Amino acid sequence: MYEKEIESIAAKGSNVEIYEGLLQLTKEIMQGKGQIQGKKKIYYISAEFLIGKLLSNNLINLGIYDQVADALKKKGKSMAEIEEIENEPSLGNGGLGRLAACFLDSIATLGLPGDGIGLNYHLGLFEQKFENNLQKEKKNPWITEKSWLRRTDVSYPVIFGGHTVQSVMYEIDVTGYDNKCNTLKLFDLDTIDESIVPEDNIYFNKEDIQKNLTLFLYPDDSDYQGQVLRIYQQYFMVSNAAQLIIDEAVAKGSNLYDLPDYAVIQINDTHPTMVIPEMIRLLLQRDINIDDAIGIVSKMCAYTNHTILAEALEKWPIWYLERVVPQLIPVIKMLDVKVKEKYKDESVAIIDKDNRVHMAHIDIHFGFSVNGVAALHTEILKTSELKAFNDIYPNKFNNKTNGITFRRWLMHCNHELTDFITEQIGDGFKKDATELENLLKLAKDKKALEKLLDIKKQKKVQFKEYLKNKEGITIDENSIFDVQVKRLHEYKRQQMNALYIIYKYMDIKAGNKPKTPITMIFGAKAAPAYTIAKDIIHLLLCLSEMISKDPDVSPYLKVVMLENYNVTYAEKVIPAADISEQISLASQEASGTGNMKFMLNGAVTLGTEDGANVEIHDFVGDDNIYIFGESSEKVIDLYNNPDPAKRYCAETFYDEDEQIAKLVDFIISKEMFAVGNKKSLIRLYMEIITKDWFMTLLDLKDYIKVKEQVLADYEDRQKWAGKMLVNVAKAGFFSSDRTIAQYNEDIWKLS
Ligand SMILES: *Cc1c(COP(=O)(O)O)cnc(C)c1O
Repeated sequence: MYEKEIESIAAKGSNVEIYEGLLQLTKEIMQGKGQIQGKKKIYYISAEFLIGKLLSNNLINLGIYDQVADALKKKGKSMAEIEEIENEPSLGNGGLGRLAACFLDSIATLGLPGDGIGLNYHLGLFEQKFENNLQKEKKNPWITEKSWLRRTDVSYPVIFGGHTVQSVMYEIDVTGYDNKCNTLKLFDLDTIDESIVPEDNIYFNKEDIQKNLTLFLYPDDSDYQGQVLRIYQQYFMVSNAAQLIIDEAVAKGSNLYDLPDYAVIQINDTHPTMVIPEMIRLLLQRDINIDDAIGIVSKMCAYTNHTILAEALEKWPIWYLERVVPQLIPVIKMLDVKVKEKYKDESVAIIDKDNRVHMAHIDIHFGFSVNGVAALHTEILKTSELKAFNDIYPNKFNNKTNGITFRRWLMHCNHELTDFITEQIGDGFKKDATELENLLKLAKDKKALEKLLDIKKQKKVQFKEYLKNKEGITIDENSIFDVQVKRLHEYKRQQMNALYIIYKYMDIKAGNKPKTPITMIFGAKAAPAYTIAKDIIHLLLCLSEMISKDPDVSPYLKVVMLENYNVTYAEKVIPAADISEQISLASQEASGTGNMKFMLNGAVTLGTEDGANVEIHDFVGDDNIYIFGESSEKVIDLYNNPDPAKRYCAETFYDEDEQIAKLVDFIISKEMFAVGNKKSLIRLYMEIITKDWFMTLLDLKDYIKVKEQVLADYEDRQKWAGKMLVNVAKAGFFSSDRTIAQYNEDIWKLS
């Protein structure tokens, strides 16, 4: 199919022309496939969709990737160089946004009618640059003249306190693997003015809503104007969503009372919460009484909780909402009264005594489902964080362990491994990921294990070349690639990994040279206003520079910090990784999905019993994962023990353990000051020894010990290959196809 079209595109002169030709053809084929149909539809509303580049993924899902790659090869071109032309859409931030993207892929692949709803951020999150070993943020314009976006004539008025704006809806087609299409719907304003943001930073007038509303994802909210802008964005997203959902249902014959037969809304974290009062408001306007309206909306809305971090559970002062969305206030107050009539417990109130509106509480009281994203996380929600709610609504709570789409995280990013698996067990795993278990028959097959090592080596060489071209950094493909790539946050504990580097540096200085050199690879963006996170990036960049200049150590240890880590980078570095660092403080990482991508690509996890690591551990068994650190129960006790003397105290660890003190003190050594910023290094040092909110020092020594064991075990290559094999073979459970099938079975119930 499409042979002639593909050949004529491949024959075009420039890579840009070829890319644009393929873009156009792909869009036409997807349009021709048509939409997945059904009476009831799932609307996945999310502030983020971290979709990554789309060309290759779409070609794979359409079943014409190989054909295109062959046609290009005949003309002396590679798919890789054409992919380079595409900008990565900057519509997401981290795991939560990437999950939304994997879910869209799986919803379409399973043939379920389901659309994503979000915002069309013109300048994205931000583009990360490193200058003087510090993170700098720049705008990240990603929309080009020719892109996957399709402008529609769908448009809604959205009322803000004082003025009304008129939206415009864009769409991006989402094709299932060997299936029809759904769409990602992104709302925007025609009045947005990108020129109000300078070239070299991300500061702009936060009050000019007509010009700035959809410029950035998560605009800086360290001041009042920034917080209000986030509320404007959230309401704009959900008001459009609610109007669209009602329109689509009515067009299919809904009388509004039966809306739940036509639509189910998944609220991805608390950002889309206002869809609940907004939907109720719209039903009241259509002459439905309040109790009926609440009943209808409550049967439509389901909430996913992604974190127990207090900072992420949104609570807005009610007067912020009064200013931005006064029309929602009567509804929110009504919901608050209903809750207070039934439950005296202040901790489950919608509006607290300081007049703050608890968004998650709206979701839990007025949605029909609350889910966590990994078994441990859901258990912590039920027994600790949201215990009061679980006591009221035990049947609302359920677990849906996250997953990843194997189309992108195996078939697209690792052709070599995909081909190997196909040769060994056939290609049934592409539709039923649990078939990967059949690989276990190779556990004693020397040749197959050799091949697995050989593929890893190829991916390491490919990554080496990519990194050389992109950043001018050279790494050794014969070294161990130890990788920690994820958003920068103290709970993820990149700072603990940095302290390991200091340990290793000192150990090598003392004459203990590793058998195999080690390359420590990091990638992470820090939120622009998160000072300590930026200090940790600074520490890593300083360590990198300091070690590279030290001839005693540099042959054995290299630290690389990837600039502007994103999906494209993830697709290159994850297949090349030997060790997957998943070292969050137990109880703090809700699930993680990076951990699953690494496992699927044959990296061995070094991690804590946290999030989905717990389930990975169960699947692969003790011999094929390295677990360290205190348990989540212990950690929760160290936070909450009624006796303050029994709570975690960083100072005690520092004062009472010489080895720990020596490593932490190195942060403010003359070696570090020689390459770094004194103020930043001292601030981080003080933070670790006096606060250390995420207990770095608690697990540091166990981490070092177990990591040394990992490095030693790497030397037995056959045995290591066996571990790699088990990880790939047991990854099937973590396919987002499984996750979505469970959402549908338990929550959405689409036929
Ligand atoms: C998968 C992914 C994440 C999430 O990684 P975690 O390790 O689960 O935090 C973040 N960013 C990108 C670009 C990803 O692909």
